[in-house]
Amino acid sequence: MENKKELRNWIDAFGLPHPLVIAGPCSAETEDQVLKIAHQLKDTDATVLRAGIWKPRTRPGNFEGVGALGLKWLQRAKEETGMLTATEVANATHVRLALEHDIDILWIGARSTVSPFIVQEIADSLQGTDKIVLVKNPVNPDLPLWLGAVERLYSANIEKLGVIHRGFSTYEKTRYRNNPEWQIPIELQNRFPDLPLILDPSHIAGRRDIIFDLCQTALDLSYDGLMVETHFDPDNAWSDAKQQVTPDRLVQIMSDLKIRKATDTEAEYRNALGTLRTQIDVIDHQLIEMLGKRMKVADKIGALKKEKNVAILQTRRWNEILGKMILEGEQNQLSEEFVLRIFKAIHQESINHQEKILQG
Ligand code: PEP
Ligand code: MN
Repeated sequence: MENKKELRNWIDAFGLPHPLVIAGPCSAETEDQVLKIAHQLKDTDATVLRAGIWKPRTRPGNFEGVGALGLKWLQRAKEETGMLTATEVANATHVRLALEHDIDILWIGARSTVSPFIVQEIADSLQGTDKIVLVKNPVNPDLPLWLGAVERLYSANIEKLGVIHRGFSTYEKTRYRNNPEWQIPIELQNRFPDLPLILDPSHIAGRRDIIFDLCQTALDLSYDGLMVETHFDPDNAWSDAKQQVTPDRLVQIMSDLKIRKATDTEAEYRNALGTLRTQIDVIDHQLIEMLGKRMKVADKIGALKKEKNVAILQTRRWNEILGKMILEGEQNQLSEEFVLRIFKAIHQESINHQEKILQG
C-alpha cells in the first residue's frame, strides 16, 4: 500500500467543519438505551453512532454483548435519527450480520488486529465493500502489525479505510488504561499522511477526566476524527463504566476543543508547524520520562553500592557506556560532541542522586 490522496476521500466527503465524531455506548445494552443515546447525540457534532454488539472481553464472565439482536436497535436508531451506525466485527459471521443490518462503519477491534488470520477472514468476507472499515491498533505496540491489517483490507479492494488509535497495553500500571505511545501513530501518519486517523480517547484513558486532553493532543497532531464512548448513565454502563461520558459532556468537550482548520496557504503552514511542534512536545515528554526512569535505576544501583560499600564512580563502566552511546549516536545522526555533552550531564545527575543515597 502506498499513500494516496484518495485514501481520505470518504472522510472529506462528510464536509464537516470539525473532525468526524463517532459517539455512543461501549455496548448496546437494551433497545431503549441505544435509542435514548442516539436521540441525545443526534443534534450534536456526532455524525456516527457507535455501539458494541459483540464484546471481546479480556476475561470471561463479563458482559459479552447482546449479539445480533442489537443490530436491529442500531438500525432503528439510524431510521429515527439519521445518524450513521458503527460496530465492531471480529469474524465472517459478524460481518455478514452487520452488512445485513446496513451498518455503515465496521471496525476491527484491538484484540482482532493482532491476528492476521482473523483480519484476513474479515477482509475476505468484506471483499470489495463500499462500507467504511476502520482498524484499531493492535493491543501491542507494533506498527507493522497494524499496517499489515490495513493492507489486508486494501488488497481486498476496500477503499474506505481508516485507523483508530486506542493505545497499547503495558504490564506496568500507568496513568492510562492503554498507553498512547503517540510516536506510533505519528510514524504511521508520516508514512500515510492521507489515511484517516481517528483517536479513541476512551480506551486510552480508561477514565473520564483526561478524555478532553487526549482529544486536544490528537487535534494538535491533525487527527481526522474522534471516537468517544458516550452513555446517558456512564456509572451504570454494563461495560467500561469509568471511561464513558454523557452526551452533554461530549458537547462541552467539542465546544472547548481548539480545532485548527487549514483554509489557505498561511493556515496550512501554521497547521503543519503546529503538528510538528506537537510531535516535538510528545517526544520531549518521553525524554523526561525516560530520564526519570533512568535515574530511578541509578538510585537502585546507589543503594546496592551503599550496601556493599563501593565507590560511586566506576570509570571503566562509564567509559564503556560513553563509547557505545557515541557509536549509537552516529547511527542516529547525532554528533559525538552532542552525545558526550548529554551523557556527561546525565552521568552527573546520576552521581548526584547516588551521593544523596550514600549520605542518606
Ligand atoms: C470498544 O471500542 O468498545 C473496544 C472493545 O475497543 P478495543 O478493541 O479498542 O479494546
Ligand atoms: Mn469499550
